[in-house]
Amino acid sequence: MLKVRAKYAPGACSYGDYDELRWDLAGCNLRCLFCWSPASRPAETDDPSRTVSSEEVVAATMQNLGD
Ligand code: SF4
Repeated sequence: MLKVRAKYAPGACSYGDYDELRWDLAGCNLRCLFCWSPASRPAETDDPSRTVSSEEVVAATMQNLGD
Protein backbone atom coordinates (compact mmCIF):
# COMPACT_ATOMS: atom_id res chain seq x y z
CA MET A 1 0.00 0.00 0.00
CA LEU A 2 1.18 3.51 -0.80
CA LYS A 3 0.09 6.82 0.66
CA VAL A 4 -0.32 9.33 -2.17
CA ARG A 5 -1.50 12.90 -2.61
CA ALA A 6 -5.26 12.73 -3.17
CA LYS A 7 -5.29 15.77 -5.45
CA TYR A 8 -3.13 14.36 -8.27
CA ALA A 9 -1.77 10.91 -7.68
CA PRO A 10 -1.61 8.57 -9.37
CA GLY A 11 -2.46 10.72 -12.34
CA ALA A 12 -1.29 13.06 -15.05
CA CYS A 13 -1.06 16.79 -15.63
CA SER A 14 -0.73 18.62 -18.93
CA TYR A 15 1.42 21.71 -19.31
CA GLY A 16 0.68 22.47 -22.93
CA ASP A 17 3.90 21.32 -24.56
CA TYR A 18 4.32 18.28 -22.37
CA ASP A 19 2.43 15.91 -20.11
CA GLU A 20 3.61 14.64 -16.76
CA LEU A 21 2.77 11.40 -14.97
CA ARG A 22 2.44 11.99 -11.26
CA TRP A 23 3.00 9.69 -8.32
CA ASP A 24 3.12 12.27 -5.53
CA LEU A 25 3.86 10.21 -2.44
CA ALA A 26 2.62 11.60 0.87
CA GLY A 27 4.40 11.63 4.18
CA CYS A 28 8.01 11.54 3.04
CA ASN A 29 10.17 11.77 6.16
CA LEU A 30 13.33 13.15 4.58
CA ARG A 31 12.32 16.84 4.98
CA CYS A 32 14.52 18.28 2.23
CA LEU A 33 14.55 22.06 2.66
CA PHE A 34 13.96 22.64 -1.07
CA CYS A 35 10.96 20.30 -1.30
CA TRP A 36 8.05 21.85 -3.22
CA SER A 37 5.51 19.13 -2.41
CA PRO A 38 3.01 19.90 0.35
CA ALA A 39 2.10 16.20 0.34
CA SER A 40 5.52 15.37 1.74
CA ARG A 41 4.64 17.32 4.91
CA PRO A 42 0.98 16.46 5.65
CA ALA A 43 1.25 17.40 9.32
CA GLU A 44 2.21 20.96 8.37
CA THR A 45 0.13 21.48 5.22
CA ASP A 46 -2.96 19.31 5.80
CA ASP A 47 -2.79 18.32 2.11
CA PRO A 48 -5.22 15.41 1.70
CA SER A 49 -3.80 11.99 1.01
CA ARG A 50 -5.21 8.54 0.43
CA THR A 51 -3.91 5.01 0.51
CA VAL A 52 -3.77 3.01 -2.71
CA SER A 53 -2.48 -0.42 -3.62
CA SER A 54 0.46 -0.99 -5.95
CA GLU A 55 -2.00 -2.53 -8.40
CA GLU A 56 -4.07 0.68 -8.43
CA VAL A 57 -0.95 2.74 -9.12
CA VAL A 58 0.01 0.49 -12.03
CA ALA A 59 -3.54 0.49 -13.45
CA ALA A 60 -3.83 4.29 -13.25
CA THR A 61 -0.38 4.70 -14.79
CA MET A 62 -1.19 2.36 -17.66
CA GLN A 63 -4.47 4.23 -18.25
CA ASN A 64 -2.64 7.57 -18.35
CA LEU A 65 0.05 6.19 -20.68
CA GLY A 66 -2.69 4.91 -22.98
CA ASP A 67 -4.39 8.30 -22.98
S1 SF4 B 1 12.24 16.40 -2.20
FE1 SF4 B 1 10.45 16.23 -0.85
S2 SF4 B 1 9.43 14.33 -1.47
FE2 SF4 B 1 11.49 14.31 -2.33
S3 SF4 B 1 12.74 13.22 -0.82
FE3 SF4 B 1 12.87 15.39 -0.32
S4 SF4 B 1 11.26 15.78 1.18
FE4 SF4 B 1 10.82 13.82 0.20
